[in-house]
Amino acid sequence: TTQEPLLLVEKLSAGYGEMLAITDIDLRIYRAEIVALIGSNGAGKSTLLRALSRVLPCTGRIVLNGRELSAATSDQVFALGMVQVPEGRQLFGRMSVHDNLLMGAYRRSDKSAIAQDLERIYEMFPRLAERRRQMAGSMSGGEQQLCALARALMASPILIMVDEMSLGLAPIIVEQLMDILVGIRRNGVTVFLVEQDIHLALSIADRGYVMETGRIVQSGPARELVDDPKVRHAYLGT
Ligand code: ATP
Repeated sequence: TTQEPLLLVEKLSAGYGEMLAITDIDLRIYRAEIVALIGSNGAGKSTLLRALSRVLPCTGRIVLNGRELSAATSDQVFALGMVQVPEGRQLFGRMSVHDNLLMGAYRRSDKSAIAQDLERIYEMFPRLAERRRQMAGSMSGGEQQLCALARALMASPILIMVDEMSLGLAPIIVEQLMDILVGIRRNGVTVFLVEQDIHLALSIADRGYVMETGRIVQSGPARELVDDPKVRHAYLGT
């Protein structure tokens, strides 16, 4: 089709000092897709997210919703609706759940819409509603991850980038979080899911990209990637 991608990445390279951690990354994410980025430890997944969020300098092209982001600041990227869901522990631990959620909307000035979204979030996540006065840092890992996800949604994103959401969480909690991502996509939000657990990621994704030592080595429909030898290779690492 000639549909324009929501996120277009071309020849993106980034690294730390002299070392390039990711090289010539090309990818496309279309509206309301769930796209998985898989690869073993150290493959460069987090570096790619940092480059996309513009917290790490990079070369190449990033176009979000038709807008060039190559020279944008992280704040501008956030304001344009590309929002990263950090690992749960990066919440404001000594602030209440409620205040954490409000922090997600700090770029917005539409007071009544924010209040409405907050109510919707509490309906979507009753667990957070029950704990709205609790300090975020005192909740379980799964609840904190839930809160991080909800906080990202409070930014009214068009694309959320989820980094290693399953890390250290019980399988049943992870399953619930995955269901929530599917629900978020149903509401029209595009999801870029970065995961070490390939089976988990590919179980909910439409398409996937496989990274190995800083490069994309394979991509395709999630169903096909599950059985791909390159996926196994990248997953086992070399
Ligand atoms: P993980 O799941 O372990 O985070 P990853 O696929 O996200 O793995 P990255 O964290 O992006 O991989 O790491 C890619 C490469 O960049 C690795 O070789 C790593 O050692 C290196 N790297 C990551 N962060 C830094 C940093 N702050 N300074 C220097 N090198 C780094």
